Amino acid sequence: MAPIPYDQRDGFIWMNGALVPWRDAKIHVLTHALHYGSGVFEGARIYDGEVFSLTKHSERLHASAQILGFEIPYSVAEVDQACRDIIKAQGLAEGYIRPIAWRGSEEMGVAAKHTRINLAVSCWDWGSYFPESEKFKGIRLCMANYRRPDPATAPSRAKAAGLYMICTIEKHRSMDLGYADALMLDYRGLIAEATGANVFFIKGETIHTPEPDCILNGITRQTVIALAQRRGFNVIVRQIKPEEMADFEQCFLTGSAAEVTPVSEIGDYRFTVGDITKTLMDDYSAYARPSARAERKLSLAV
Ligand code: PMP
Repeated sequence: MAPIPYDQRDGFIWMNGALVPWRDAKIHVLTHALHYGSGVFEGARIYDGEVFSLTKHSERLHASAQILGFEIPYSVAEVDQACRDIIKAQGLAEGYIRPIAWRGSEEMGVAAKHTRINLAVSCWDWGSYFPESEKFKGIRLCMANYRRPDPATAPSRAKAAGLYMICTIEKHRSMDLGYADALMLDYRGLIAEATGANVFFIKGETIHTPEPDCILNGITRQTVIALAQRRGFNVIVRQIKPEEMADFEQCFLTGSAAEVTPVSEIGDYRFTVGDITKTLMDDYSAYARPSARAERKLSLAV
């Protein structure tokens, strides 16, 4: 069954301070962000009616806007509250939330200093990011053609809409080739990230993940590093060359949507879904969910 188009759903969307009926939350075709990519966004999951790491996401939204040269006219606390308000209005216990800030339609052209900065927050029911059937046996990735840009070339550390242009191209190409996703290298030819998730590798009891110097420093990535360290695993954040994949035994992706997803294959390299990956999948799903976190008395200094 085809999914219901995203502009034809019911309920409300928080838009510039008001709860707007879902189908009326529209923008004009001459919106700066549509033409010039002047938008930043967040994606977080809702567990037991609460956004996991809500304030971290709201802070990152603000930081991304600042990198793009604009300020969101709502404080971090107000963005947090907008998220809580829309979840309540939608009555959502489990799902995904998408705050987005963008330059409006008051000016057109590269210069857009006087455009209104808009903020909208939507949330909806969203299941597994990767097919549930593949998730537990490990997903298959191909290698991407495009590379993550040099921070001197693009605002790499922002979660900016424009940076996803190459991600959508690569995600579509991977799907056309029968894969679940693509692994991108960075501008230096080092391992970077998947099209919407960070990557980790395991050899023995040691976990390796790329330095977040030109990739998104994922909130899930930071949480999983802390969960792994709490278990006593050695986590090494470093530059990783693609040919090193031959030596790694396990691999997984992390992301708010992807959570912890095991990987069985990247191009010519094969991985097993081993115990450490399974432990971290389980730890993350317990830590992310308030009821399970309380039950297991899990706390982290992230
Ligand atoms: N990299 C990219 C390109 C992403 O889109 C995401 C998802 N936001 C991530 C990494 C993971 O980030 P997070 O764990 O904060 O969701």
